[in-house]
Amino acid sequence: MNVVKVTTQDIRFPTSKENVGTDAVHVDCDYSAAYVKIETEDKKLSGIGLTFTIGKGNDLCCKSIDYFKEFIEGKSIIYIEKNISSIWEKVTNHSQLRWVGPQKGVTHIAAAAFFNAIWDLIAKYHKKPLWQYIIDLDATELVDKLSFTYLDDVITKSEAGDIINKNKKNLPKDTSSLNSTIFPAYTTAVGWLGYSDEKMTVLAEENLKKGWTHFKMKVGQDIERDIHRCKLIRSIIGHENKLMVDSNQIWSVNETIEYIGKLKHFDIMFYEEPTNPDDILGFKKIKDAHPDIKLATGEMIHNKVMFKQFIENKSLDYCQIDSCRIASINEIIPVLLIASKFNVPVIPHAGGVGLCEYVQHLNLINKFIITNNDLSLSEYAESCAEHFENPAIIKNGGYVTPTEPGYSVRIKESSLKEFDFNNGKYWN
Ligand SMILES: [Mg+2]
Repeated sequence: MNVVKVTTQDIRFPTSKENVGTDAVHVDCDYSAAYVKIETEDKKLSGIGLTFTIGKGNDLCCKSIDYFKEFIEGKSIIYIEKNISSIWEKVTNHSQLRWVGPQKGVTHIAAAAFFNAIWDLIAKYHKKPLWQYIIDLDATELVDKLSFTYLDDVITKSEAGDIINKNKKNLPKDTSSLNSTIFPAYTTAVGWLGYSDEKMTVLAEENLKKGWTHFKMKVGQDIERDIHRCKLIRSIIGHENKLMVDSNQIWSVNETIEYIGKLKHFDIMFYEEPTNPDDILGFKKIKDAHPDIKLATGEMIHNKVMFKQFIENKSLDYCQIDSCRIASINEIIPVLLIASKFNVPVIPHAGGVGLCEYVQHLNLINKFIITNNDLSLSEYAESCAEHFENPAIIKNGGYVTPTEPGYSVRIKESSLKEFDFNNGKYWN
């Protein structure tokens, strides 16, 4: 069965109208997706993938993906499955394109969309949800599909295989029996920075009733308002539930050290992205100044080498892997393996367009065959779910295990038509 062609679509949803996704630096997000479709000779079998952006520049991702098509068009699915690791190296280390990366920025998040679509296609070809396809692979076979370039000073392929094999011993023979797993999540949807006190209060009360026990809110534009909002949300959720804050990179290292001092008494589970996401040493300075607090980051850590440094340097406490920032399963699993080796809990980033649909697979892969950490927790922010054929489902504050074949991000045809930025009804 051969791949016939690869197409892309620039899809943008006008979420800025309702202040969805607003934080200290992203004040007008139009949740968007550079959407990839891999068509095959079988009209019923296609690979769907996306990368998430917040509006302008989504077209650059689509353009970038166009450059990658040549590596799979005309090739068989079996060939692509067998050679996915070398195709990944060709795409992410292309002799000319690498000058506008390498392995960071537009070209890399475009590579994420491209490989997300490839993994979707492969899993569908085997008629399994992606998490199950991955955990069913023999450890050596799986490791050979991943990228370990630049990682051998921290983890080798053989160590990776050992971690996976050790965990696989606990799996049932028939992994479809794991379908009833509910994976615990926290909600981000109550505390976007653009929300009024009234809206936050209503949402926090509603979400508490729905069974959520972990809440995250945005901070960072004004420390006095942050203190006020922390007080407000604590007054609703009490101290028996968990509270996290996210300042989306807005503070300097010294500001972070000062502001954490002012927020600490609200018993914050973690401070997310307090400062520049590249500042590995800065994160460490914050931790040294406040040894009793925890830092979380990852949604803008742009490749596995940076994760390697963050983790080895003990600059982060919670690893927030992002399904569309680094280049798909080939790169994500090696990061999960490093986190496992250093016993760092992984709490994937979600929200946006499709990230919740993606992380439900990553959570299960990590839980079943990689991590040695007991904490099971993942982000959830209900956004754009109405546009998906099979949106992530939440029950009692946790992800219901997806059972349909693939990687779960097919957008409804009607939404693709309406919100296509070039010729959709909404934008014209
Ligand atoms: Mg965040």
